[in-house]
Amino acid sequence: METDNKKGHFIESIIIKDIENNKNKGKVLTRFPPEPNGYLHIGHAKSICLNFNMANKFNGKCNLRFDDSNPAKEKQVYIDSIKSTVNWLGFEFGTPLFASDYFEKLHDFAVELIKKGKAYVCSLSADDIRKYRGTLKEPGKDSPYRKRSVEENLDLFTRMKNGEFDEGEHILRAKIDMKSPNINLRDPIIYRVKKASHPRTHDKWCIYPMYDFAHCLSDSLEGITHSLCSLEFEDHRPLYDWTLDEIKTPCHPQQIEFARMNINYTVLSKRKLQRLVEENLVQGWDDPRLPTLEGMKRRGYTPESIRNFCNTIGVSKKESRIDMTLLENCLRDDLNEKAPRVMAVLRPLKVTIENYPADRTEELTAKNHPQKEDMGTRNITFSKEIYVEMDDFMEDPPKKFFRLGPGREVRLRYAYLVTCTKVIKDSAGIIKELICTYDPDSRGGNAPDGRKVKGTIHWVNANDCIDAKVRLYDRLFKDENPEQGKQDFIENLNPDSLTELESCKLEKGLINAVPGNVYQFERLGYFCLDSKEDRKNNSVFNRAVSLRDTWAKRLKK
Ligand code: ATP
Ligand code: MG
Repeated sequence: METDNKKGHFIESIIIKDIENNKNKGKVLTRFPPEPNGYLHIGHAKSICLNFNMANKFNGKCNLRFDDSNPAKEKQVYIDSIKSTVNWLGFEFGTPLFASDYFEKLHDFAVELIKKGKAYVCSLSADDIRKYRGTLKEPGKDSPYRKRSVEENLDLFTRMKNGEFDEGEHILRAKIDMKSPNINLRDPIIYRVKKASHPRTHDKWCIYPMYDFAHCLSDSLEGITHSLCSLEFEDHRPLYDWTLDEIKTPCHPQQIEFARMNINYTVLSKRKLQRLVEENLVQGWDDPRLPTLEGMKRRGYTPESIRNFCNTIGVSKKESRIDMTLLENCLRDDLNEKAPRVMAVLRPLKVTIENYPADRTEELTAKNHPQKEDMGTRNITFSKEIYVEMDDFMEDPPKKFFRLGPGREVRLRYAYLVTCTKVIKDSAGIIKELICTYDPDSRGGNAPDGRKVKGTIHWVNANDCIDAKVRLYDRLFKDENPEQGKQDFIENLNPDSLTELESCKLEKGLINAVPGNVYQFERLGYFCLDSKEDRKNNSVFNRAVSLRDTWAKRLKK
């Protein structure tokens, strides 16, 4: 597996120091803690790679722990998807863990706090709680319920647990400091009534711990050494530490924050992605245009390319936007090495080779990779009728157009040199077919007299190919930063993010393609079979990414 950023980042330096000082007996245990309220996106991959890489590098372990303390939004399908996505990315997590496995213990910890006089049941309305909390500029005010006796608090909390109250009637709050400059310390809510069925504990509980309470305690119960989280939790760290200082717990993990990943031309927030899905602006959570890992997988992204991307961008404390091109280049680099080459014509133009015998079909040898002999060769067939790319012909081409034009000669990849002799149009003047002649002595693509033929184009045998639909993708948003400005980010959607080409012609061998195998369609980019479409009707291929090639750019639209 790839190594993490060569120089090492600030979190790695902290861990190295801790090991040197024999902190945690030199052990490293990290965790990736998703809330199962949606599908993972590429931003999560950064956290996954960081946590697993640190564990792997220092002979430690990384737990996959579901932070499932809000049953209203969490579902089993998300749990299943997250597990398989982390595996797909290439990481082993053993048995997944769940905050809900600790509900009993978390409840007892809350009771411990109440008994210490460090938590109380508050009966203010949600509105009043907000008013009492104050603002960034003004301190908060003590709740009138703050002075409730330990006995009363214990009694009310038990009755909350027993389901005697409705949601919002009472909540349990930590008793910290309503005047703290840090709003998170102004008596934060630690337990609330929620009459929702939980995907795992079902109807056992009707009170659930808040994230800030459940998270640090789950970390501690698991013996996590380094609790790595994104920057928005920096202001929560004092609460993380307060909770672990007040409650007798096995250990006190160190929370370290890092900057979230942002990528231009897309959004990385479950809530925003959800809107795109729910408003049918994309076709589901695994739409290949989305930055969800399921969408990227369906599009043809490889786990290696995603891991490489995460390692390349590194880890820091400073927020930034990463260029989408970097992500695409990581994919190109990986696929350039691995993807077998094939030929496919996306916008077919029929070519009839007038001097080729009508009843002949010949087999030609094609390389599966231009540099890698070990990837072998395959046989492709050639006959009188072939398809070439519409864009590879111009009726009145400029001098530097080294493709087909009237009277011009090109090389058909792995086949023959052909010269265009005639253009056939319909009554509306639309080009329907080309007539060419071939040089029978140029088999393999070289002229016997050594004459120079600059252009090489791809083609498929019209009598031995499969039909397919091909989807080309462009950026999902028009704007580099779709979330910027006053307008709704939806306004920035790129209306041309998807182009579907219905009557593409692919080399016959692609009948054996399976989803997840990515091919380079020569000169066009990297493509894979769609994992959702039923193959019986039609093959559907998705373009993962175009080639850097300038031809590819021309063919894009
Ligand atoms: P979102 O904002 O998309 O809803 P989230 O942070 O609420 O994401 P969680 O399931 O709570 O999603 O996240 C699990 C872990 O992934 C957290 O530790 C979080 O910090 C991390 N994470 C989420 N988004 C990013 C990102 N864009 N870059 C880096 N880490 C992220
Ligand atoms: Mg979250």
